[in-house]
Amino acid sequence: MSDTKHVDAVIVGAGFSGMYMLYRLRKLGMTSIIYEAGSEVGGTWFWNRYPGARCDVESMEYSYSFSPELEQEWEWTERYPSQPEILRYANHVADRFNLRPDIRFNTRVTSAVFDEEARRWQVETDGGDRVTARFCIMATGCLSAPNMPHFEGLDDYEHDWYHTAIWPHEGVDFTGKRVGIIGTGSSAIQSIPQIAKQASHLYVFQRTPNFSMPAHNHDLTDDVQRAMKERYQEHRRKARESAFGVPFEVTEISQKPALEVTAEERRQELERRWQTGGATIIASFADVLTDQEANDLVAEFVRDRIRQVVDDPETAELLCPDDHPIGTKRPCVDIEYFETYNRDNVSLIDVRSDPIRRITPHGLRTGEAEYELDAIVFATGFDAMTGALLRIDIQGKGGLTLKEKWEDVPRTYLGLAVSGFPNLFAITGPGSPSVLSNMMVSIEQHVEWVSDCMAYMKEHGFETIEPSAEAQDEWVEHVDVVGKSTLYPLANSWYMGANIPGKPRVFTPYIGGVGNYRKTCDEIAEKGYEGFELERERITAAS
Ligand code: FAD
Ligand code: NAP
Repeated sequence: MSDTKHVDAVIVGAGFSGMYMLYRLRKLGMTSIIYEAGSEVGGTWFWNRYPGARCDVESMEYSYSFSPELEQEWEWTERYPSQPEILRYANHVADRFNLRPDIRFNTRVTSAVFDEEARRWQVETDGGDRVTARFCIMATGCLSAPNMPHFEGLDDYEHDWYHTAIWPHEGVDFTGKRVGIIGTGSSAIQSIPQIAKQASHLYVFQRTPNFSMPAHNHDLTDDVQRAMKERYQEHRRKARESAFGVPFEVTEISQKPALEVTAEERRQELERRWQTGGATIIASFADVLTDQEANDLVAEFVRDRIRQVVDDPETAELLCPDDHPIGTKRPCVDIEYFETYNRDNVSLIDVRSDPIRRITPHGLRTGEAEYELDAIVFATGFDAMTGALLRIDIQGKGGLTLKEKWEDVPRTYLGLAVSGFPNLFAITGPGSPSVLSNMMVSIEQHVEWVSDCMAYMKEHGFETIEPSAEAQDEWVEHVDVVGKSTLYPLANSWYMGANIPGKPRVFTPYIGGVGNYRKTCDEIAEKGYEGFELERERITAAS
């Protein structure tokens, strides 16, 4: 594949976004090719194989809805699916729809440059492939660029170290080892209980504690699956129209502000949701994410649960989040996370008060102590939302790079497209609900919107589409205003770019709600793609 070839569309990434995009474009009769850096499909679920990796959206909701046959025939085994099960599902989808012939695996896209004369994207890969395409679709994932902070001395560390997001396929046996894990985000919270079961001792290096809710995971019975399959269409519709892509239970109480119900009613509602499991507690009252006082009540309820579970009061206090409103960082869902701190072979080390100074050849040193470690796990997260896109040299009109364009803020229209970058689409891009939702719902909505847009262009003889600068500015402003009407900007979260030094500090996803957002996108399409500039095919243009 070293000669330049031409396709209608290049898709970057073979996770759930890229696979569905390929499926839709085939239906339109378009030629397309996916480039995927990994050796198989699945994206997130291909890479994140750390012990305990699991989805925290229920399996019957975290799945494609576009194929009724697939939806009816696939059998999930657990309420919350494990990484191996989701990966099996992704592979099944690739086989079922025969997607692999159009996917180039082990191939990373390094650059995408818009040729203004030819109105084509020129795409290059690390394998020397060169392809030109009318459309370039970035299905590169919001959480696919691992963040590895610089730690002095790591090069001289004499034992093995791992990042949760690039986990060895053969697995890791920690039996009898002294293991250190850095981080206490979702990945760490899932892996800590599992690693603790193997390691001779596990040291958890925590800088910031996080809120976590019990999953109450269980096997899915045939009856439960059958019942859901009978009402699938209705359930999926509710998910699409909901705020977070999951039809969280709406009760009389949950529609009220937290302070409008009595203390006893509040306690009962929170307790009920805690027993239900998952992140549903965030939806207990109407104003949890917008009112500090309401939020404090829910946060204190969760802190009390932590204090009840963890035996050692000092450890319990260290595990109680105190620097951000609950829900403003991605809520974690766990299986016996806090219980794990009651084990004799687990120690919580507070690296907020005593930061990590360096990695030593045999472990790790903080300001005040030294730890001998036979293995280190970095659960340090991702350069989220923009990372994977900006790691590609993307150049639009006039040679402007996306990096330059997004220097201050990731500017998009609807999180789907960028002014000055014609025919470039991002699936679940910054400025769309994406990471604030059940991502399967958001992925399907974006893929369908983009492929419908491409079909419209074909039908009406348009060659390029890009947002107008004005429409984009208005959208960026709207995303910002809606974000600021909530408590989200108060957290030092990756939603805010806060975990990456030098990254613009803005609330990047759109919190207007999945259902409302879908309506906006549909209305824009119905009005002939309002806010977009479309250019007709030129007689001279090669097709
Ligand atoms: P990804 O699955 O990230 O796939 C993107 C693909 O693009 C990757 O395979 C990557 O290798 C490839 N790629 C990127 N750049 C290039 C390049 N330059 N060249 C070639 N290939 C490239 N979401 C939920 O809704 N619920 C959950 O419970 C949930 N749990 C998660 C747990 C973990 C551990 C992580 C990391 C994420 C989780 N997510 C969850 C978010 C998850 O990323 C999405 O649900 C979904 O899998 C994203 O699919 P995607 O295809 O858009 O992106
Ligand atoms: P994360 O939430 O960003 O957590 C990273 C952790 O590493 C934080 O605790 C952070 O501490 C710590 N850290 C980073 N640099 C550090 C340093 N130099 N010294 C000490 N600590 C450091 O990343 P993640 O856990 O991989 O999760 C990312 C997202 O992926 C989640 O929010 C979620 O969307 C998704 N995910 C979901 C699930 C699930 O349950 N479904 C599981 C895994 C991931 P600070 O907070 O102090 O910066």
